[in-house]
Amino acid sequence: MTNISDFMDSPYRFLQARLDELKTAKNLRTLSHADAEGRYIIKQGRRMLNLSSNDYLGLAVDMNLRADFLRQISVKDFVPSASSSRLLTGNHPIFDELETELAKLYNAESALLFNSGYDANSGILPAIANNDDTLILADKLVHASLIDGIRLSHAKCIRFRHNDLNHLERLISKNASCYRHIILVTESIFSMNGDEAPLREMVDLKRRYPNIMLYVDEAHAFGLRGSQGLGCCEEAGILPDIDLLVGTLGKAAASAGAFVICAQTIRDYLINHVRPFIFTTALPPFTVAWSLYIVHNLPQMSARRERLSCITKRVHQALATEQVKDISQSHIIPLLIGSSADAMLQADAMQRHGFYLLPVRPPTVPEGTARLRLSLRADLTDEETERLIEEATATPQLHSYETASTRTNNS
Ligand SMILES: *Cc1c(COP(=O)(O)O)cnc(C)c1O
Repeated sequence: MTNISDFMDSPYRFLQARLDELKTAKNLRTLSHADAEGRYIIKQGRRMLNLSSNDYLGLAVDMNLRADFLRQISVKDFVPSASSSRLLTGNHPIFDELETELAKLYNAESALLFNSGYDANSGILPAIANNDDTLILADKLVHASLIDGIRLSHAKCIRFRHNDLNHLERLISKNASCYRHIILVTESIFSMNGDEAPLREMVDLKRRYPNIMLYVDEAHAFGLRGSQGLGCCEEAGILPDIDLLVGTLGKAAASAGAFVICAQTIRDYLINHVRPFIFTTALPPFTVAWSLYIVHNLPQMSARRERLSCITKRVHQALATEQVKDISQSHIIPLLIGSSADAMLQADAMQRHGFYLLPVRPPTVPEGTARLRLSLRADLTDEETERLIEEATATPQLHSYETASTRTNNS
């Protein structure tokens, strides 16, 4: 019998019960204390190479870059806060400078900055898909920020099977005449699988069905792919075909914030309708100045991109044995394990060997596909790469890789 006084003693009991469930399922998340020292993470007396961050080019730990940037900055230039939304008094000239630089790089009409990739994705979709005559078609594995944008929109949404063009095309041909607009949403490199969307084929579909708008999230490709580091769309030569290209600045670009590349009309519309753009204090201008410094230098960083691509090829080749079938096509390599408990054990084993890998568990990934997510970085030495391969291939649970990857793709 429910005793009202028990409930008064512990008004958060229902929350605690949910936490206990998560703990039993080995899916409880906690914040652990980790000191970073350049490429290393120091934790419980262990010094481990950080292979869990998104600092793919090593820019966030590069002291020469920091020093070079700070030499150009005066006390007057160090503006720590925008102190309001850009629509009020927060629109420091540095925002326009970065947007102009980005639009120029992409050879596009315009760019618009957001405080984060989460803000961009969760804000843009509800703004442009706010009616019943729009259909959103989104890949099954798109990032949580896109899912939240879809949930907040008033459009109907259908998720197509991961990277499955046949399924996508069937959905388009069935629905194209029923909706005025179709927004096709995908990531270029998927954050959890490290595989790539069939972007060229999606552009072909868009040519056949002119009411499609293509929305591509390049969070894990910006800075890395294409000759100037603009992402997979640059690499595929399809930049002019993308209606909304989102890039984030907190990953390879070693800063914070995000941007969308789009037509001027879309930008004007977004400024008027995206709530996480309108109702938030803009990024600190100092941070934007650092982003501009990085973005300006990115095109010349092809040596770092090539280094990462070399390391990636080597690791793929070493892990793609008979029983370990490779699903990744990039520097993000999921070492699929299966159960959350096993993933935690394997993460610990890799950490004991000096490689800081973390388990990624449900609900971030589908049930039964818990994994270690290996993020390669351009500043790994050959010796470190070989040692990493040795430890990763010694991991016994990797034999379940193929089964688990099949499940991921069909989930
Ligand atoms: C990290 C990530 C985001 C969110 O970007 P933040 O700037 O970290 O908020 C959006 N999309 C994808 C695919 C991501 O991996």
